Amino acid sequence: MTTNPSLSIITLMTLLMCLTPTLIKSEESIDVLLPISLNLTVLTDPFSISAASRDFGNITDVNPGAVLCPSTPAEVAHFSYDSESTTSSPGFKVAARGQGHSLRGQASAPGGVVVNMTCLAKTAKPAAVVVLADGTYADVAAGAMWVEVLEAALARGVSPVTFTDYLYLSVGGTLSNAGIGGQVFRHGPQISNVHELDVITGKGDMVTCSPKLNPELFYGVLGGLGQFGIITRARIALEHAPTRAKWIRILYSDFSAFTRDQERLISMANDLRVDFLEGQLMMSNGIVDTSFFPLSDQTRVVSLVNDHRIIYVLEVAKYYDTTTLPIIEQVIDRLTRTLGITSEFMFVQDVPYFDFLNRVRNEEDKLRSIGLWEVPHPWLNMFVPRSRILDFHEGVIKGLLLNQTATSGVTLFYPTNRKKWNNLMSAMIPNEDVFYVIGFLQSAGGSHNFEELENLNDRIINFCDNSGIKIKEYLMHYTRKEDWIKHFGPKWNDFSRRKMMFDPEKLLSPGQDIFS
Ligand code: FAD
Repeated sequence: MTTNPSLSIITLMTLLMCLTPTLIKSEESIDVLLPISLNLTVLTDPFSISAASRDFGNITDVNPGAVLCPSTPAEVAHFSYDSESTTSSPGFKVAARGQGHSLRGQASAPGGVVVNMTCLAKTAKPAAVVVLADGTYADVAAGAMWVEVLEAALARGVSPVTFTDYLYLSVGGTLSNAGIGGQVFRHGPQISNVHELDVITGKGDMVTCSPKLNPELFYGVLGGLGQFGIITRARIALEHAPTRAKWIRILYSDFSAFTRDQERLISMANDLRVDFLEGQLMMSNGIVDTSFFPLSDQTRVVSLVNDHRIIYVLEVAKYYDTTTLPIIEQVIDRLTRTLGITSEFMFVQDVPYFDFLNRVRNEEDKLRSIGLWEVPHPWLNMFVPRSRILDFHEGVIKGLLLNQTATSGVTLFYPTNRKKWNNLMSAMIPNEDVFYVIGFLQSAGGSHNFEELENLNDRIINFCDNSGIKIKEYLMHYTRKEDWIKHFGPKWNDFSRRKMMFDPEKLLSPGQDIFS
């Protein structure tokens, strides 16, 4: 293991004296107790505490004792357990927080220390994102957001290959989950596109890891829900960047045709292969967002939804640049002929590559402007095995969702390939070659009552359990240990063993509620 000897600067005794939750009262008391040479920025003012106690989910409210705004990785390491010590652990918990876009307090540390990873990104030298001269990878401070990685890479004509739908998430935050979106079927999740990580374990060791160097930590941390260490740097794979995207939405009234075409598209390997594939549902009991479609077609789209009750929207993108421009129209033409799509149900936008990847930002602006961004978000995300997708559709989409008086938010629905995931990593997916990503991205507020939405989520999970549909939840939050054991299934033993190896005092990411 590559460890940094300077990490023993702070002894466990100092930690016990300075940082037990009861002693973290004000900046003044921290300054008095911490060795001056450390010069740590530890915030305990009400504003900092309140900001760190909430997240995007707007469901939980968990106060930390303090917020650390580190300027070097070594400062983060001071807050970990000193493994050389013979005395017991300091007792307070530590959670890294990227953008706090968790849903149910996963980045919280009750009474402990929340480490604001954006501080580290701001002070990273020479920059938060450093693109290698040949453009093959970028070294990124884990607190940087994906939008910053993209901007820095595009300035050099390159780009990461796989993205979340929303780019204002931290690199460390998505790598702790998986980082999925419409490129996953082709390139795998973000955790499959990392070459190397710097991690500070729960024992205070600063470790560089990769598939060859300390692989146990590397694979554990990817999708590891922050349990084994705090990622401070990630080496992200890059490729040549296109400049524009043909962004296409195709409407289906028939579920079988919709999924057949989705599955066909993710299995293509020739020049017809698309670069991005997702899908979503438009339902007559929900708000039908027609903003993608030309003004002249919007009424027709609404009528289609009302007539059929559900319209399935297949969403693909094909990237291009000046070299591929002459053939792009032909490729799209061949693609639609292959699928047998008629032009009246197909809509195309031609947009800059960056704008395509940053498309959810517009939705955020719209929701913020009408006060519907900072509301409770009881989102339910899951992976459903392909073999049961028809049963899922009948039971959940038609049986439960369509029978609601009104649905809220967006429902994502698209298949992806298992072969692009590495089973050594901590992230869990169904045990089938193809599985579907389903996201019920519901918002409470307006006419939607939080309890009703939670109740719907429970009924969805119960339906799957009772019908034997072996889903895996994503971005989940369980409070019972048996649910975690069930979630990790055959990986639970490895997951617990890695916890003992890298964070034996169980200090890290307590908000996930796995080992507390
Ligand atoms: P935080 O909420 O700050 O942290 C999440 C977890 O990771 C916590 O347990 C935290 O302790 C841990 N953590 C954070 N940083 C580090 C670090 N450096 N080292 C170790 N552990 C760390 N996800 C997708 O996969 N695909 C999507 O398309 C997608 N779209 C989204 C859209 C929106 C609008 C939102 C709000 C979320 C979306 N997500 C998506 C979910 C998102 O990926 C996760 O919530 C992710 O954790 C958010 O990153 P964050 O920086 O806000 O993490």
